[in-house]
Amino acid sequence: MDFKRLAELLFPDVTETPEELENKYPPRNLPEGAKVTRFAPSPTGFIHLGGIYGAMIDERLAHQSGGVFYLRIEDTDAKREVEGAAEQLISVLAEYGLNFDEGAAIGEDGKITDLGDYGPYKQSQRGFIYRVYAKKLVEEGKAYPVFTTEEEFDELASADKKAEVKSKVWTDDANAEQKDAQARQREFTLEEVQSRLLNGDRFVLRILSDGDGEKKVRTTDLVRGSLEFPENDEDFVLLKSDGIPTYHFAHAVDDHLMGTSHVVRGEEWLPSLPKHIQLFRYLGFKPPKYLHTAQIMKLDENGNKKKLSKRDLGLDMTDYKRNGYAPLCVCEYIMTLLNSSYDEWRMQNPEKPYTDFPFTIKKMSSSGCLLDLPKLGDVSKNVISRWDADRVYSELTEWAKEYQKDFYDVLTADPEKAKAILSIGRGGKKPRKDIATWRDVMPYCGFFYNEFFKIEDSYPEEFDKSDIRSALRMFLDGYDEGDDSAVWFDKIKDVAARLGYAADMKEYRSAPESFRGSVADISMFIRVAVTGKMNSPDLYTVMQILGREEVFARINRMIDNL
Ligand code: GLU
Repeated sequence: MDFKRLAELLFPDVTETPEELENKYPPRNLPEGAKVTRFAPSPTGFIHLGGIYGAMIDERLAHQSGGVFYLRIEDTDAKREVEGAAEQLISVLAEYGLNFDEGAAIGEDGKITDLGDYGPYKQSQRGFIYRVYAKKLVEEGKAYPVFTTEEEFDELASADKKAEVKSKVWTDDANAEQKDAQARQREFTLEEVQSRLLNGDRFVLRILSDGDGEKKVRTTDLVRGSLEFPENDEDFVLLKSDGIPTYHFAHAVDDHLMGTSHVVRGEEWLPSLPKHIQLFRYLGFKPPKYLHTAQIMKLDENGNKKKLSKRDLGLDMTDYKRNGYAPLCVCEYIMTLLNSSYDEWRMQNPEKPYTDFPFTIKKMSSSGCLLDLPKLGDVSKNVISRWDADRVYSELTEWAKEYQKDFYDVLTADPEKAKAILSIGRGGKKPRKDIATWRDVMPYCGFFYNEFFKIEDSYPEEFDKSDIRSALRMFLDGYDEGDDSAVWFDKIKDVAARLGYAADMKEYRSAPESFRGSVADISMFIRVAVTGKMNSPDLYTVMQILGREEVFARINRMIDNL
């Protein structure tokens, strides 16, 4: 077969050569050891935790080594593509602080544009590049066209299966009975190709595999170590009949030309590795280093590990947003999944950004990591407890604007008040840890606003209503907004003593039967009247923020309703 002629027939429009492309996209000029990584999502409208997890590994590897982290949009599957998904992806990644050095970006007109010298970064715009390499493979007798539709080919393959034709049996005899669908596809003449093309028929381009399924190919994964697979013996598709490349072909061409040194991707691609090794060899490219990330798992009701499914809370990143998790908290949590020593480092370095942590692949585990939502909650509480009120206010309101509009309205009507509320218990050595998600804020401090204030906890039965009423009245009689917290509390102790409640907790504990209760109970009477709850942030500060008039209104209302 005259392969050069065949290549000319199939790709008459391709005039560029691989050498020209190599010159256009030269090796990157980076210091020794600098890693080039990419995040390569498909714009299907679904960003999942595993994606952010992988992107964080990419980002850390590149930026910790002085390398490059870029974004490539893998939009070769038009059927699965969702309108606007790529734009949304880019904005979510930005929210997560995953900053790309180059790649697909949002331009001033809101549309996707290329940033960097190794583009286009959207695979749908790289058709002319794939065709150059496709032509080269045909010229070298390493790929061939099949003028059947995918459906026809599948039918053929299943007919073979039914007839129990042993697949992958090759023979030079075109009439041999054992030939399988794949082998039959390999045979054609230039005249046949010419007439199919004249007819306007389309072809898929398949690799002509030299692999032997009985033989093994060895490779290494950065986390899993040395791996062995059967060689690829399948003539897999490189270009589909619409000229669009398959994942395999695009992966080899793009990661080569874009200079990727480390490919981090989900473990679902592991079985395809022999195909990729073969393809890099056929194309004369040096393969990248691979790191296949394990699936994120959950524990089911019986304590067994199960893959997270689309229906589970916590796979889809929009779950986190809707439930009010701050992206930085999710990133911190992912760091704990990535390296088991992260927790300890964080304890020793509470103020440092997570990017100061010396992340290493060596400490990654190859078994699936477990999504532990309570742990995410704890990590989040710690992170947010270290923020100042301004930051909490700004992130909270940004979230509430979309998800809790009524709360957003009251918060932003008086930002100073909101910030005073959010400052309570913040800043000291042991800051309060009430907030894991923005959804927690309203239940925690909504009572400051009449729109959300209600009596949630009732007084325990053991207390006389008349005691409560008297305590509330006495407290109001002595209340002076100008008191400092010590004087304010002395007055509460005074109320306690006058009602036969212990003013001193030690005294109370040594002889509880001698008192009707303690000053803690008196405080609780007031607290429930003012905040509606048994537990609240510091009551003195609460009253200072509410103001005298509101304190009186709430306590008087309670007295009337008792
Ligand atoms: N587009 C592929 C995916 O979303 C990317 C895999 C890779 O990173 O190579 O699974």
